Amino acid sequence: MTTTLLQLHDELPLTCSRTGTCCHGKQVFLNPWELACLAQEKQISVREFRDLYCDFGGILLRFDGKKDKQGFPACSQYIENFGCSVHRGRSLACRLFPLGRQVQHGEGKYIFLGDKFPCLNGCSEVLNLPRLSVENYLVGQETAVFEQAQDAYLEVMQNLADLAFELLLDTGLAGTGETKTLAAWRKLGNTSPTELAQQIGTEWLEALLFPNLDCSKENVMDFISQHNENLQQLAQNQFASLDDFASIHEASVQMMRMALYLAKALGANPEGLAEYWVEVAKGNGGCE
Ligand code: SF4
Repeated sequence: MTTTLLQLHDELPLTCSRTGTCCHGKQVFLNPWELACLAQEKQISVREFRDLYCDFGGILLRFDGKKDKQGFPACSQYIENFGCSVHRGRSLACRLFPLGRQVQHGEGKYIFLGDKFPCLNGCSEVLNLPRLSVENYLVGQETAVFEQAQDAYLEVMQNLADLAFELLLDTGLAGTGETKTLAAWRKLGNTSPTELAQQIGTEWLEALLFPNLDCSKENVMDFISQHNENLQQLAQNQFASLDDFASIHEASVQMMRMALYLAKALGANPEGLAEYWVEVAKGNGGCE
């Protein structure tokens, strides 16, 4: 699919005709902070929100509402003739749409996918509305704090992967010449998010999805930093006393599952990441 890279000063038909087509038939992934924001907006617990409105174990907003004229189901949060029922808490993907965001080498770039501007599919009347620069559109959608959250969770993901590396490379496991761990990492890259969530199991999944922290927009970095610490502490509690290679192998695979599941929530490519991390591990003494 064509990717069009945008500059902040580019002017596009970014104002909305409010037909709601963008809330039908999409995939909206959620990081744990966004999940907490949506639950808060809905005034229910994060667990209830996950159970009622999410797929893939809690990282994908469910689209199971009334179908539009093209047959695409509405988002579970969409109310006909009203719009988004969680507008103030909506996620980065919803705020950016019809734009997307790619992070490469720590730098975020704005894009749209496809051969023509997405709003023209079903909302061609936007052409008659005022045009906005990409920058002004992003300010109006208050994306900045959500972008910060997304970038901070990319670091949490890397920290989880680092634990998988440490368990493989720093414990003597790789030195035994065993090949099962990297084979398992690679396979996880092709495992569906639902299957990953099941394999992760309740304790670790709840630690990832329900950190039980205050999710106000003023303290997003505190939320994610504390969440990261909690995950690291859980790993410390569970893995510090492991003294056999079978258990260390399991622990390394579990941390890779967590990293790749979070990668999916962040819109990254788990298959490509798994391949990359396997190659890095092989370059540092891992065997496959
Ligand atoms: S959360 Fe709101 S803005 Fe996002 S897709 Fe659902 S209804 Fe639309």
